[in-house]
Amino acid sequence: MKSALITGITGQDGSYLAEFLLEKGYRVFGLRRRTSTPNYTNIEHILDRIQIIDGDLSDLSSLIRAVQLANPDEVYNLAAQSYVETSWSQPLLTSEFTAVGTTNMLEAVRLIKPSARFYQASSSEMFGKVVETPQKESTPFYPRSPYGVSKVYAHWMTVNYRESFNMYACSGILFNHESPRRGIEFVTRKVTNAVARIKLGLQTELRMGNLEARRDWGFAGDYVQAMWLMLQQETPDDYVVSTGETHSVRELLEVAFSYVGLDYRDYVVNDERFHRPAEVDLLLGECAKACERLGWERKVGFVQLIQMMVDSDLRLNRTKMNDSIAEGKLELSNPLVAAGWSGNP
Ligand code: NDP
Ligand code: GDP
Repeated sequence: MKSALITGITGQDGSYLAEFLLEKGYRVFGLRRRTSTPNYTNIEHILDRIQIIDGDLSDLSSLIRAVQLANPDEVYNLAAQSYVETSWSQPLLTSEFTAVGTTNMLEAVRLIKPSARFYQASSSEMFGKVVETPQKESTPFYPRSPYGVSKVYAHWMTVNYRESFNMYACSGILFNHESPRRGIEFVTRKVTNAVARIKLGLQTELRMGNLEARRDWGFAGDYVQAMWLMLQQETPDDYVVSTGETHSVRELLEVAFSYVGLDYRDYVVNDERFHRPAEVDLLLGECAKACERLGWERKVGFVQLIQMMVDSDLRLNRTKMNDSIAEGKLELSNPLVAAGWSGNP
């Protein structure tokens, strides 16, 4: 039986990857950082089938211990401070976790289990102010945020460990990928959650930043399969993973609001707080290499993805709403709430 160690197992991708590897018969170990209240929402349903190891990317000794305990055949380094916006307010923490944390993880593997195959979660944010479109493996990087800069460092460290120590280390340059498990501050989830809340009468407006930014959005469940495929090849390499389609934030709003019969223009308010100091205007990936060599293909399209997220946020918010009504925290006498309430989760 193969063993895998996943850092960032409590996050969106970590949880989908854990499910995927369990299905393939792997023993799955997950690194989680200690928090006062455990953050297991994404992995609650598989907790009895995985082994959790406490550790932090900024603490090399904890990573060494994690590699010793898991004795992994494959290591997926998904942990990071992953939110671009926060990287401006916490640039040093972002560098420590997202950049140097990767070197810590590479060192732990090199020292304890150098034969383990290593996956680094690189990002299309490395292309930033893009110098060509579509972006592919050979496109030069021009990061536009402390997050993007940190990912470029981590990417080159991964390449360097492959070339210096002959480690099987791959960097997956993944374009944005989303799901019902996406963090609530990312634009897709922020929109789908707001659409659900507006539909249910819990919210009346949605404050947004730049609506013209374009992203290549795919489904996280499809993307974790590409991570695994990269570690099953004869030789390690780096791959772009994307859908090859780009959509604006405005299109995202149109799709999400119209799905529940609303017009986004009636609810969206421009808010300077959500505009960024430096923007990444357009991302569009060319994933020919991954599609041809790995045989990878995305299954979920853009509209289907957004509708899946709206459906999930409707369910989640209805459940919360019913609990609040039962506890007397929300009044059905409020006409907006009454209009949105169906009585069913
Ligand atoms: P999430 O933000 O959902 O998950 C990040 C994970 O990292 C969480 O489990 C978090 O733990 C953990 N973590 C953060 N800091 C530390 C630390 N210091 N030590 C240990 N664990 C830590 O990200 P995603 O799942 O969306 O993304 C996975 C990876 O892929 C990230 O590296 C991200 O930057 C990268 N990526 C993501 C893309 C996307 O579109 N989703 C695109 C390209 C790259 P906790 O739950 O405690 O916060
Ligand atoms: P990113 O590509 O990793 O930065 O993913 P995000 O989902 O955080 O942002 C995608 C794009 O949406 C960026 O160009 C943002 O500027 C744009 N955007 C516009 N309004 C918002 C907003 O209110 N929140 C977020 N997170 N992004 C927004």
